[in-house]
Amino acid sequence: MYTRFCAKSGSGPPGIRSLALLAVCSVAAAQGGADPYLRARERMVAEQIEARGIRNPEVLRVMRSTPRHRFVPAHVQALAYGDHPVPIGYGATISQPYIVARMTELLGAGKQHRVLEIGTGSGYQAAILAQLTAEVYSIEIVPELAQSAAQRLRGHANVTVRHGNGYLGWPEKAPFDRIILTAAPPEIPEALLAQLARGGRLIAPVGKAPAQDLVVIDKDRDGTVHRRSVEKVLFVPMKNP
Ligand code: SAH
Repeated sequence: MYTRFCAKSGSGPPGIRSLALLAVCSVAAAQGGADPYLRARERMVAEQIEARGIRNPEVLRVMRSTPRHRFVPAHVQALAYGDHPVPIGYGATISQPYIVARMTELLGAGKQHRVLEIGTGSGYQAAILAQLTAEVYSIEIVPELAQSAAQRLRGHANVTVRHGNGYLGWPEKAPFDRIILTAAPPEIPEALLAQLARGGRLIAPVGKAPAQDLVVIDKDRDGTVHRRSVEKVLFVPMKNP
């Protein structure tokens, strides 16, 4: 974006103009353009996500363009693009960038899909999904997190955040084509399986730390459910009040 800005700015005699341009461009380059974290985000995608085998161009595109630093508290913004989860308060974390990309790719959600997310947290995963799907419904059990995420997600008209217990799902909006859990239950809640559409997919970390499985559930057109574990992960436990 700043390249275009540089190419168009400046007026006056050519010599002065190029000097002025040079100055403008080096300041912009030093700051990474209007977004000071642009470079950090590009590196994050190249080194943490593409290098580990994520190939879906749409997933890579939204991970490159979504300002992850705006989803974490101000005092940890500098950590937002690191190869690890970041604490966001109330015992919650924003997941490691690779895990967000991996789960998003596995979910296989497209523009025709309605998605349910359990564990809104910062709202980052919901923002990623909002750009790839038709509608996102996200439930968060901590009222303060639900409120701050809803604020942050105001720009995404297709996301609805609700404070509530994810074990119950969102029956009024069911069925969902895709369901993603970003907190780990001991077993996949029955209500969520019931709210998964035929032909749909659910993805969830399942089990107790430190040995959770990332589980993918596919529901056939005839309602048969298939389950597979794809890798070991570590998520905060899903609370069951
Ligand atoms: N997807 C989030 C990461 C969330 S961390 C992001 O992109 O930032 C897991 C979140 O699940 C926490 O915010 C936690 O409060 C929430 N959570 C835990 N148990 C829950 C439950 N039963 N229902 C809804 N949310 C729950």
